[in-house]
Amino acid sequence: MTLEALWTGSGAAAWGTCAYRDLLPYMDPAAQARAEALCPAPAGVFVAAYPYFPGDAPGNLSLYARGQDYHVAVPRRMEGVCEGLRALYPDRRFVRMVDDSPLPERLCAGLAGVGLRGRSGMTIVPPWGTYLFLGTILTDLPLESAPEVSPLCMDCGACLAACPVGALTEAGVDRSRCLSGLTQRKGALTEQEREILTRHGLVWGCDLCQRVCPYNQDAPLSPLPEFREDQITTLGPQDVAALTNRKFREKYAGRAFTWRGPGVLRRNLELHREPSGGKGPEKETERT
Ligand code: SF4
Ligand code: SF4
Repeated sequence: MTLEALWTGSGAAAWGTCAYRDLLPYMDPAAQARAEALCPAPAGVFVAAYPYFPGDAPGNLSLYARGQDYHVAVPRRMEGVCEGLRALYPDRRFVRMVDDSPLPERLCAGLAGVGLRGRSGMTIVPPWGTYLFLGTILTDLPLESAPEVSPLCMDCGACLAACPVGALTEAGVDRSRCLSGLTQRKGALTEQEREILTRHGLVWGCDLCQRVCPYNQDAPLSPLPEFREDQITTLGPQDVAALTNRKFREKYAGRAFTWRGPGVLRRNLELHREPSGGKGPEKETERT
């Protein structure tokens, strides 16, 4: 089977390769050590993009978190690719990773020539837009980067203008300010952070910079059923009330919004109920 057939068969909308050595300037020593522990003598990286747009039903969960957890679903799709690669190159090692990775995934995509590099920091693959999960396979098989890095998006600036906390600038993305991270952060929040979350429309994640991107305006529904079907679009207070960590994880098994436990969701929902809060969820619970 060809590499193209392997990746297409896994549901990837686009894929490419980059040389591991090209990533080294962007990886700190700890990340390099972690990569080399996973795959001694790393020489190349495969990177692929899986579309997840689930539609645009109202809700208070970020679009990426409405279907199955991509940390499980994408590696499952990539396992067949790894098996095919091992059959083609039996003496080589192939280690698949999604999100929890020492590799700078979006940089891998750019070096591999996959799609476009969004000013928002996101990878863009028309017609799927930015609604993509990236997966990588680290290998000791020597691979080369694309002759040209992916081109920049149309650079309209809409994502920078839409970001309510100034996390996007001409210099790049400041992840420490991003609201998506703030909705997931445990522990005490400052008054300012509480106020920001109170006004934020979602209790998990943030889609604002993606929603305004011109490449997303006609994004098709994901062809991958695990991201499109059995969605949870909204959580209400009663959905997370009085649940222990274990009960919460059992109730919402396989969902990306469970990884921080029920406490952060209870807090975010509570903030939305405050008198000065923004618009709360239109429906307490909705499954589509
Ligand atoms: S996800 Fe939200 S907070 Fe983060 S950069 Fe985009 S618009 Fe800004
Ligand atoms: S909103 Fe505009 S500047 Fe931002 S990623 Fe999309 S095309 Fe690029």
